[in-house]
Amino acid sequence: MSQPFLPFTRPSIDEDTIAGVAAVLRSGWITTGPQAQAFEAALSAHCGGRPVRVFNSGTATMEVALRVAGVGAGHEVITTPLSWVATANVVLETGARPVFVDVDPATRNIDLMQVERAIGPATRAVIPVDLAGLPVDRDRLYDIAARHRLRVVEDAAQSFGSAWRGRPIGATGDFVSFSFHANKNITSVEGGALVLPDDVDPALVERYRLQGVARSGFDGMDVDVLGGKFNLTDVAARVGLGQLKRLDEFTARRRELARHYFDVFDVDAGCDLPVMDFENCNWHMFQIVLPAGVERAAFMAAMKERGIGTGVHYPAMHLFSLYRAMGYGPGMFPHAERIGRGIVTLPLFPAMTADDVERVCAAVTASIAAVRGGAR
Ligand SMILES: *Cc1c(COP(=O)(O)O)cnc(C)c1O
Repeated sequence: MSQPFLPFTRPSIDEDTIAGVAAVLRSGWITTGPQAQAFEAALSAHCGGRPVRVFNSGTATMEVALRVAGVGAGHEVITTPLSWVATANVVLETGARPVFVDVDPATRNIDLMQVERAIGPATRAVIPVDLAGLPVDRDRLYDIAARHRLRVVEDAAQSFGSAWRGRPIGATGDFVSFSFHANKNITSVEGGALVLPDDVDPALVERYRLQGVARSGFDGMDVDVLGGKFNLTDVAARVGLGQLKRLDEFTARRRELARHYFDVFDVDAGCDLPVMDFENCNWHMFQIVLPAGVERAAFMAAMKERGIGTGVHYPAMHLFSLYRAMGYGPGMFPHAERIGRGIVTLPLFPAMTADDVERVCAAVTASIAAVRGGAR
């Protein structure tokens, strides 16, 4: 009675979207054009009417946000070591230095008290990350930013569809960056979006998005900043439009499945569970932290033998060679290091069933017992 393999995530692309993509491909205009503009308008509506520009990745949106915010050589940007490495890589891209601070062990998000302590004369910005979709406390965050005159680039790659005080993430705040990578809650295959604050000219962001080019009249062209090659194709934008229509349905389904995880998870297995938030969090991932002494690689292998896919999001990034070479090392951020060693992403995506959740939970209990017993 072998069951099909259950991956840790899988996008849900509907037939209407597939037909829409075919129509774009037949239209004669396949790169950035009307679909990208329509996607920007729809995203702006979702974000309370704020200006939004789409990009070909969430990494590009953050890099451009930092450049527009004037972050560069000699500056520091405070962020969390427990994120996808793009979060800190974009700081290096600008020539600034990423300054890591430890996470709160319960939320696994950046510890805002530590942020305040790390602020110095070179600090220009903070990049908070809503890990697994759980929002960083926006009230405390913006209180700190206002008191120290810091820019904020919200790395909301994982929290599209999450909320803070009843308003969608993106509807308030400074720069807000989303990713539409294939594994995110909505996807454009690859892609991202940047929500802009009032004091930023969208035309400048558009220049940073595409080679710094400004066009005027029929044949005028100038370049005044060094821009990248970050534009989103219409093919990708059409996928994003089809996905955005289903955001509320996807989020509701993820919340239901997360609730079911809490109902059936074997608490005696000794794992740390995520914060139980069904109001703000979009449940981008359901992540456990294994008990000390249960080796993660062996656990993941045992899960795979039971037909269950798992993921690691993420090892603490200050321990990567690139960051060690800057002076970071083991012992500096103990919570992030412990979580980064033991964290495992369990399957959670809208097309899953309650039975799938039960199957995962049974496999977790069995796999932990097997790893502890020295067998798989
Ligand atoms: C996915 C992700 C990114 C980067 O997004 P891309 O679209 O892959 O460039 C950045 N930060 C976090 C936390 C992410 O999960």
